[in-house]
Amino acid sequence: MEQVLTNNQLSSAQKSHPSFDHLWMPFTYYKDFIENPPIVIEHGKGMYLYDNEGNRYMDAIGSWWVSFFGHNHPAIVEDLKKQLDQLDHVIMAGFVASPTVKLSHLLQTIMPQGLTRVFYSDDGSTSVEAALKIALQYHHLRGENRRSFVSFDGGYHGDTLGAVSVSNISQFNAIFHDAIRKQLFAKSPYCYRCPLNKSVESCEADCMDSLEQILKEHSSNIAACIFEPLVQGAVGMRIYPPKVLKRIFDLCKHYNVLTIADEVATGFGRTGKLFACDYVNETPDILCCAKGLTGGFLPMAATMVKEEIFEAFQGSFGSGKIFNHGHSFTGNPLGASAACAVIELIHKLNIPESLKPTITHFSRKLKELDRYDCIGDIRTIGLVGALEFVKDKRTKEPLDVSTRFTYRISRNALKHNLLVRPLGDVLYFMPALNITETEISEMFDNFTNALEDTLHE
Ligand SMILES: *Cc1c(COP(=O)(O)O)cnc(C)c1O
Repeated sequence: MEQVLTNNQLSSAQKSHPSFDHLWMPFTYYKDFIENPPIVIEHGKGMYLYDNEGNRYMDAIGSWWVSFFGHNHPAIVEDLKKQLDQLDHVIMAGFVASPTVKLSHLLQTIMPQGLTRVFYSDDGSTSVEAALKIALQYHHLRGENRRSFVSFDGGYHGDTLGAVSVSNISQFNAIFHDAIRKQLFAKSPYCYRCPLNKSVESCEADCMDSLEQILKEHSSNIAACIFEPLVQGAVGMRIYPPKVLKRIFDLCKHYNVLTIADEVATGFGRTGKLFACDYVNETPDILCCAKGLTGGFLPMAATMVKEEIFEAFQGSFGSGKIFNHGHSFTGNPLGASAACAVIELIHKLNIPESLKPTITHFSRKLKELDRYDCIGDIRTIGLVGALEFVKDKRTKEPLDVSTRFTYRISRNALKHNLLVRPLGDVLYFMPALNITETEISEMFDNFTNALEDTLHE
């Protein structure tokens, strides 16, 4: 293994933190972990996190896209505290906790019409695992043998093996695809580098010809098409027009293939509508949601299905019509009470309508960054904003990866009290929905300072 510093060789400033000798950090090179040890956060409030040395950081990415109403929102804290005094957990088989039932009704008040049943699990990945297994078994129960899934290049659906099999970001997935079943992938709707050289204005969703080709050939063997509606998140916030999403739905209907909308990142008002599917007024057969469901307080996910899918599973003992899937913490009442508080906040704050001025200000501030030559593309929808950095704005030549330009910006951002994280050549903003216009301005001012520092290094 390459030579890296050990904890003993750290500078004295870096030693003021506790020992990290027993931690394994996700998505983090060991050398970076040692040279730039994680910042220990002691408390949070609203948009801000506070470390053990009294520094404050604005959380511009909602701590991996989950913090929807800021840290420690009092309404969620209050309901959670009440629930803590009542019940920690109960098995969800033969028993169910009351907030878990309440949540199943509240979800109906915000979901695209027709998603009447909820299957609970723990996080985005498990919501996808459940969706994939439901789709496979649904066909099996109807006497059809459909074994494959179709999804998209650049798609991300989680890190468990089933989710990885339908994801396609090569640096995350390639080595695992070699070991497990690789699924079918249509082209990524990547507008900045459109596979057909179209502009968003001239887009006719032709990139989805690749999906049609796959459906034509394989539909009788395809259990479902899984996609991230409007935003391919983890690959670098590739935002694509509703027209393309509409075509995905139309093609799946035409070829009689189930749709699984992975709204883990796009749900709960993130894109300016309650769900991204609302942009095209479509209800997927199955919808996955997680991030945002508890406002970032606790891990919990929901796989929503249409009643006709649930009906296939309505059996009696010995019929095999049973979904043999569940997790120890399925339907956890603490998670459920936080999720109920979130949906009540969505109604109380009139989300998404009330977000309009915030979104306008956010997108205006984001687009001001167009003056930088190193920024090739600026894309935004709702409260998602992304900057794709390039070496040459005119030719769209990508950055030289060895310069780690976006990573260095994120390091410099810390000096300006800002938490951002790169996704390859992309830096993005996913703040809490209740961020104020003043905080938005502060966020972009601090970001601009970090960018300037990096350009002058
Ligand atoms: C984050 C994400 C997942 C995985 O969710 P986890 O909670 O990290 O397991 C799945 N799908 C999409 C679209 C995501 O953004």
